[in-house]
Amino acid sequence: MNELPEALLALGTRRNIMREIFEYGKQRASEIGAENVLDFSLGNPSVAPPAEVNDTIRAILNGPESASVHGYTSAQGDVAVRRAVSASLTKRFGGPYTENDLYMTVGAAAALCCTFRALTCPGDEFVLLAPFFTEYTVFLTGNGGTPVVVPPDYDTFQPDFNALEKAITAKTKGIVVNSPNNPSGVVYSAGTVKKLTDLLRAKSAEFGHSIYLISDEPYREIVFDGFTVPWLPDFYSDTIVCYSYSKSLSLPGERIGYVLLPPALTDHDRIYAAVCGAGRVLGYVNAPSLFQRVAAACDGLTADLSVYQTNRDLLYSGLTAMGYTCVEPGGTFYLLLKSPEPDAAAFCERARGMDLLMPPTDDFSCPGYVRLAFCVTTGQVKRSLPVFEALARKYGLQPRN
Ligand code: PLP
Repeated sequence: MNELPEALLALGTRRNIMREIFEYGKQRASEIGAENVLDFSLGNPSVAPPAEVNDTIRAILNGPESASVHGYTSAQGDVAVRRAVSASLTKRFGGPYTENDLYMTVGAAAALCCTFRALTCPGDEFVLLAPFFTEYTVFLTGNGGTPVVVPPDYDTFQPDFNALEKAITAKTKGIVVNSPNNPSGVVYSAGTVKKLTDLLRAKSAEFGHSIYLISDEPYREIVFDGFTVPWLPDFYSDTIVCYSYSKSLSLPGERIGYVLLPPALTDHDRIYAAVCGAGRVLGYVNAPSLFQRVAAACDGLTADLSVYQTNRDLLYSGLTAMGYTCVEPGGTFYLLLKSPEPDAAAFCERARGMDLLMPPTDDFSCPGYVRLAFCVTTGQVKRSLPVFEALARKYGLQPRN
């Protein structure tokens, strides 16, 4: 047998628990009917993209650009696209931002990989605030960085500032912030962001180099009760925004997003060049050209996200009334539920026996919990409640009023 990189072999063969459950759910649906499988495993948006997405595609394909739209674009994204998106961001958030601040990517995954690759020199560490998206460690270690995991304050799932302060050292190159958060649904208030960025400023001064704040924001627009997510570059000039249209426009399979490098970023031009270099090394060539144009036309629009609020309200109030302990989601379409037994995988197995599918969150650096991806129909949420209730009874949970 030829020698192959062990780390990649392990990644390619190690089971991804969410995908595994999702595949099981599809097989089970073929046996007992899709409506009888209560699948909360994957963060695949359940609502259609806004009409403007398909209208834009139709207009492009029927218009004078139709012959060239499938061609290569500039590596960093078509200049007209970058102008349109940066103008939209300026209108929405201030700035001003220009095409020279924007690098179009193959979703947030590529935005994060290019950013990690661009910033990382040997020995560099990046702080990850648990709980976090399972792929962060893959993206980070795959691009040379070393993760330093900081557990949350388990009462609120907000950052534990004492632990965070200790975790930031002279080796810290950056910190990843994901608010609204996958898997907790927690959203940081302006007060939390201020505290966090004051700490980063103090630590940057103490260690004599910039500590970059990488803001991973695919769920920016999915917030409840009218909350507005603070715009991190307003608080901290060394912020790099990694964005994806996957969730806001319901386009996860089309793979489109961006890296925004605000003009006040320390070493802006060099980091921009390094991000472009990272994109070459990783072989991205350019982000999908048709969907770059969709982003240009649709930045700031969203799918009809109201079903996520309806589902959040039903699930959170229903589960807490049954006696479960849950983290109240302020955004996203995820809810963290504390497993009623210490082994969350065993709880999930028991639920699976009742065709209720959800993953334990050990791989999100959050053992003892399970994640419900409630980007499903409200009908499914309603059908799941009696099953959760039956489970609550089995575990002897005390209903709350
Ligand atoms: N970051 C977080 C927190 C996510 O939840 C996801 C996807 O679910 C990504 C990044 C990757 O997003 P994309 O599909 O746009 O690559």
